[in-house]
Amino acid sequence: MNVPEKIIWKKCKNCGFLQHKTHLRCLKCKKTEFDKIEASGSCKLLTYTILKAPPAEFRDKPSYVLGVVEFENGIKGLGQITTQGNLKTGMQLKPVYRKICNNLNDTEVYSYMFKPLE
Ligand SMILES: [Zn+2]
Repeated sequence: MNVPEKIIWKKCKNCGFLQHKTHLRCLKCKKTEFDKIEASGSCKLLTYTILKAPPAEFRDKPSYVLGVVEFENGIKGLGQITTQGNLKTGMQLKPVYRKICNNLNDTEVYSYMFKPLE
């Protein structure tokens, strides 16, 4: 069973800058001490694009949408949007954890997608 990973970023203890967890030093002040900060609440769509020639992993779809979202506490995320219709920057979405494709060796891949709030 796939347990959803939390969406976690780092908040610099020195200057408060928010950044992705993979960075080792603060991108703003270069310090190395952080607090963990977890995505919370709904998120808004900052920008998106529709991929019309998806990579081979997504062979079951003729196209899909990739979007950048921002949560209420400033964390940003990149992921597929569950629909292609009626998308507008600034609209509210929520993260949903689900299968996004079968890998080329047929392993199921799970991740967050972002679904418009009704
Ligand atoms: Zn900093």
